[in-house]
Amino acid sequence: MRNCPSCGREHADSAAFCAGCGTRFDGAAPAPVPSGGYVAPPPASPSGGGKALASLIIGIASLLAWCLPCVGIPLSITGLVLGILDLKSPKRGMAIAGIALCSLGLLVSLVNAALGAYMGATGQLFK
Ligand SMILES: [Zn+2]
Repeated sequence: MRNCPSCGREHADSAAFCAGCGTRFDGAAPAPVPSGGYVAPPPASPSGGGKALASLIIGIASLLAWCLPCVGIPLSITGLVLGILDLKSPKRGMAIAGIALCSLGLLVSLVNAALGAYMGATGQLFK
């Protein structure tokens, strides 16, 4: 049994309205707010480092994509920029590695593009 909050009349727990004054019973009492509960701290997100990793991955990809200069050149430049942006992050070594890989990828892509252009110009591509 419970009492109507307005008029105090007793009702069955299943009653939806007070038979005396018509007050609506909103079902169960509001769930108690857990106080002093454990609040998980936000995950220790590394400040920076994401771009260094991206630079490293892009560097590897640009090395694999060197045979496609139209992909390798923009890819390696992107990785180079990301690596430089993250040089001051805790993952500096990774950024440097990414920069090195991207530089290499850019170099190889440029050589390949120059070679391709040269061979295309001289008609030696399909010989
Ligand atoms: Zn009532």
